[in-house]
Amino acid sequence: MRTLSKSKFISGVQCPKKLWLEWYRPELKPPLDAATEKLFATGHEIGKLAWLKFPNGKDATPADYKNLSVSLGNTKIWLEQGVETIYEASFSAGNAFCMLDILHRNQGELWAIEVKNSTSVKDYHLMDASLQYWVMNEAGFAPDRFFLMHINNQYIRKGEITSDLFTLTEITDEVIGNQDFVGDKLKELGQLSLMETEPEVSIGLHCSNPFGCDFQHYCWAHVPENSVFELTRMGAKAWDLFNQGIQRMEEIPEDYPLSDSQVLQLRGLKFNETYCDAPAIRNFLNAWEYPLHFFDFETIMPAIPVLDGTRPYQQVPFQYSLHVLDENQNREHFEFLASPEAFSGGNPRKNLIEELKKDFGNVGSIVTYNKSFEVSRLRELAEAFPEDAEFLQGLIERIVDLYDVFRNRWFYHPAMKNSASIKSVLPALFPNFSYGDLNISDGMTASDSYLGAVQNCEALDLELKNNLLKYCELDTYAMVLIYGFLKDLDGANDERK
Ligand code: SF4
Repeated sequence: MRTLSKSKFISGVQCPKKLWLEWYRPELKPPLDAATEKLFATGHEIGKLAWLKFPNGKDATPADYKNLSVSLGNTKIWLEQGVETIYEASFSAGNAFCMLDILHRNQGELWAIEVKNSTSVKDYHLMDASLQYWVMNEAGFAPDRFFLMHINNQYIRKGEITSDLFTLTEITDEVIGNQDFVGDKLKELGQLSLMETEPEVSIGLHCSNPFGCDFQHYCWAHVPENSVFELTRMGAKAWDLFNQGIQRMEEIPEDYPLSDSQVLQLRGLKFNETYCDAPAIRNFLNAWEYPLHFFDFETIMPAIPVLDGTRPYQQVPFQYSLHVLDENQNREHFEFLASPEAFSGGNPRKNLIEELKKDFGNVGSIVTYNKSFEVSRLRELAEAFPEDAEFLQGLIERIVDLYDVFRNRWFYHPAMKNSASIKSVLPALFPNFSYGDLNISDGMTASDSYLGAVQNCEALDLELKNNLLKYCELDTYAMVLIYGFLKDLDGANDERK
């Protein structure tokens, strides 16, 4: 019988087939992507910072995670010696083992503390902790209290990071309430580990809950292209159809109740039909004032704040691109990219505001794509720099949202499929323009690449700098192209203010 770590147990709770594949067909698991690696690195860093809250502990971290014997032995000895705090305390019992981030004695009570990099307790955290409690209890060291230590989203950095970055939430009752479930599940998964053939499990909502499963490319191979799952906002209804044997969108019965957006997508697929509500687009665009400022921020969102005055996971702008288009269709490009070194002791947000002041005139609409993002960032800047609040508020009042045209489905092209994002709209309307040709082709990669330089306090190398500038520029140039396309639609190009 195989032993179960915490992550294997969680896999088995999500789906027995997932756990079996991890054991017997690991070659099917795709390599870690950069975002997951980054998440692990952040988790590791946060785990170390969490020690600030319970300092001067003894560290039982194993030198080799495949051999826990030293760590198990040290934990036992230190517990028997009454050591106050142990980091990475290890326990094993039955067919399971676990490592606990922090074990702490507090006025005669034994506290188990598991550190998470989220800002609240999630259901799957409770399952993690329940397994840990089960193993500790079986090993003879049941904690008196169990806590999750997670990020305090009200924390505002001021100088060095302090233990106030974390907050403790007690989950003892929930964890104890799950003990029967854990015991039964461990028995079931123990039997699963002896199975020589793959268990039969149908695909379902569990394939993405609580985590996207790594084996979807394998289990979902039979799901056809343009399946009911690709129809916009179908949710659980897609599963109803799929389970009735209706797999392709085209097979959905005529009388099946669908929303207007779903009908548009379906007609786009069946008849290659484009939809355009020209009067709505015309009215919308005619309210915009020249010169038009096509504008986009890029941000970092570090779990551990890198700037004084910012909170965990706060979106901090580090870059923008701006295309300005006058009524004669003359276009000018402006851009700003903060130096990563400015995040150590400098004032990159203030520098950004000063550049905004230079690049924005006093009149003309500011065109964004999903304006809530830019509006929120400008509001946060106004809050942080009250002396610039009037200027920033002035920008906010001029903002319009190109996304509305596609979100409201005033225009729909079949190539957009179920998305109204600019990454889908641009290639649908301009097949020669695609983000896929760029070395940085999405906001997350841009953000992570830049944050890496900030955390290492190093200048951007020329290649990364160029890639970031090209990516952000394409975001605003895409808006210029899309605007031109809409303006030239029949009936949409009336006189504007
Ligand atoms: S894709 Fe779904 S069915 Fe397949 S292993 Fe993952 S969770 Fe289980």
